[in-house]
Amino acid sequence: RQAEYAKMRDVEPITRDGQRIQVMMNAGLRDDTPMLSLTGADGIGLFRTEFQFLVSAALPARDRQMRLYRDVLEAAGDKPVIFRTVDIGGDKSLPYLRNETSREDENPAMGWRALRLALEREALLKVQARALIEAAGGRTLNVMFPMVSEPWEFDAVRQVFETQLTFLKGQKRKLPEAIRYGVMMEVPALAEMLDHLLPKLSFMSIGTNDLTQFLFAADRSNPKLAERYDWLSPAIFRFLQRIVETSRDYPIDLGVCGEMGGRRLEALALIGLGIRRLSITPAAVGPIKELVCKIDTQEIGEAMRGWLAYPPANMRETLQRWAEERNI
Ligand code: PEP
Ligand code: MG
Repeated sequence: RQAEYAKMRDVEPITRDGQRIQVMMNAGLRDDTPMLSLTGADGIGLFRTEFQFLVSAALPARDRQMRLYRDVLEAAGDKPVIFRTVDIGGDKSLPYLRNETSREDENPAMGWRALRLALEREALLKVQARALIEAAGGRTLNVMFPMVSEPWEFDAVRQVFETQLTFLKGQKRKLPEAIRYGVMMEVPALAEMLDHLLPKLSFMSIGTNDLTQFLFAADRSNPKLAERYDWLSPAIFRFLQRIVETSRDYPIDLGVCGEMGGRRLEALALIGLGIRRLSITPAAVGPIKELVCKIDTQEIGEAMRGWLAYPPANMRETLQRWAEERNI
């Protein structure tokens, strides 16, 4: 394993036609950070802050949160880290919030979770905002919000961060040099409102795990449905294509942080769609860098446009054949 990582660690993911693809990794614990240098990932594109909450016996105090975030930033050095505020509730229910987060939610993925919960439990959100701002003193804070369904939710959570920032400024604390705000694009309704949201953002990350379960109305955790739909389906890619095209009108940095980005054919298709930043499981960083070096973005871009205009009967087989013919 170590040798495999080392082989690709120093390889820059540049396509045959010279496009630099950002290959970042997903993480959630302090112990994940050594994978950054082992894999040579470009940074942490999704740090799931709820992991600390899930492994704690009680709500982690601000100081503990702050220390974790600071340690992660220090371990990352010059590489960027995107912190996602807590995505708890729903299926990730917490024993110490049990009465609130598992109120017989019959549809937990669509339930009272993530930003929905955080906006109503403002104390929890304020503590996390302060911990993040303090941890990033002297550097850039990249923060993104899960399960944003409507633009006003972003306005509301940004306001909480800005209020904490003003407060800490008054306390003469060392502040971040900048705060870059972003959202997870994982609720389909948000895709219809991007013209109202994107002017306010620095970046957006497509969460294809949740997005696809909502698009197909297929529970991502139900093994009976695992074979029912394919990430490589024209419906998903047409949906993503519209998001990519709309995003081109704004100076935002668009990426994908769902698990599909770590799979070969899916990553190939996403790059063909115009995605230039992937955040994936650390074990996939090496293989995806290797893949990137074999791709010509013009060629796969053109092929994807054709397949999405006239979807083949089986997109996976078509893409597989296309890749094989080119030794990809
Ligand atoms: C996603 O939904 O694609 C995502 C990356 O977030 P999570 O898997 O943590 O829900
Ligand atoms: Mg998600």
